[in-house]
Amino acid sequence: MTTLKDKVAVVTGSSSGIGEAIVRHLALAGAKVSLGARRADRLEAIKSDLLSQGLKARYTVCDVTDSSQIKRLVEETEQEFGPVDILVNNAGVMYYRGVLKSSEELDNREIDINCKGVVNGVSAVVESMTSRKSGHIINMSSNAGRRGFAGLAVYSGTKFFVEGFSQALRQELAEHNVKVSTVQPGDVKTELMSHTTDKEAAAKYGVAESTSIISADDIARAVVYIVSQPDNIAINELLVEPSSIPM
Ligand code: NDP
Repeated sequence: MTTLKDKVAVVTGSSSGIGEAIVRHLALAGAKVSLGARRADRLEAIKSDLLSQGLKARYTVCDVTDSSQIKRLVEETEQEFGPVDILVNNAGVMYYRGVLKSSEELDNREIDINCKGVVNGVSAVVESMTSRKSGHIINMSSNAGRRGFAGLAVYSGTKFFVEGFSQALRQELAEHNVKVSTVQPGDVKTELMSHTTDKEAAAKYGVAESTSIISADDIARAVVYIVSQPDNIAINELLVEPSSIPM
């Protein structure tokens, strides 16, 4: 395993849930972490907490659907910490709904954040990483990137996009010594479910409250494992499921 000491890591969607856990674990492993999301108060609180532990952290408020904002996140990170070694495209949303209750607004939002957000993130770092012949891009996928789930048709489609995009990218960037990995979590306890307004669909298709599901820390540990591999090893995809409900 390689050390993450002083590696520069940018994590989008790091104001809560899995993204927050990832920055905490990367920082504890020695990385300089740069957070990006829309809620400044959350980012400020996480940054302050990390600094109080003697860890290195900063943030830029950023909406991943706007390519200029994610570029700014990367530029400000470079100015403060140096070139980006690790980018985790984690920001994402999920809204349960049946196809009969489709909503153009929710469709567009899921596609913009989950697909375009990842493309924007990659575009912001790829030139620098390939010219330095060094870097690791982690795209947050899902078990819904391996099979479609009822009540999550568009969401599943966005995660299939993440998988296809990452597979192609991985092949193109290998010659430049840049790794591309996807993480495919099963159900993780975060705020993700809380944004669904169609409570009927959530009850019909969602995981019951009583089900034992995995924690954001479990996913963060998986990310640290992926980025800590020696140069000659690539973890292309990592499916992380609760043992009680395997796919
Ligand atoms: P959360 O809702 O806790 O976190 C989502 C994060 O994305 C927040 O930090 C939010 O911050 C950020 N975000 C949302 N929209 C934008 C945007 N437009 N620009 C920038 N940041 C944005 O959910 P999770 O932690 O669960 O989700 C993280 C990732 O994990 C997602 O990609 C999700 O699809 C994936 N995943 C989650 C699973 C689960 O069961 N929880 C299972 C499989 C995959 P802010 O609102 O401040 O912008």
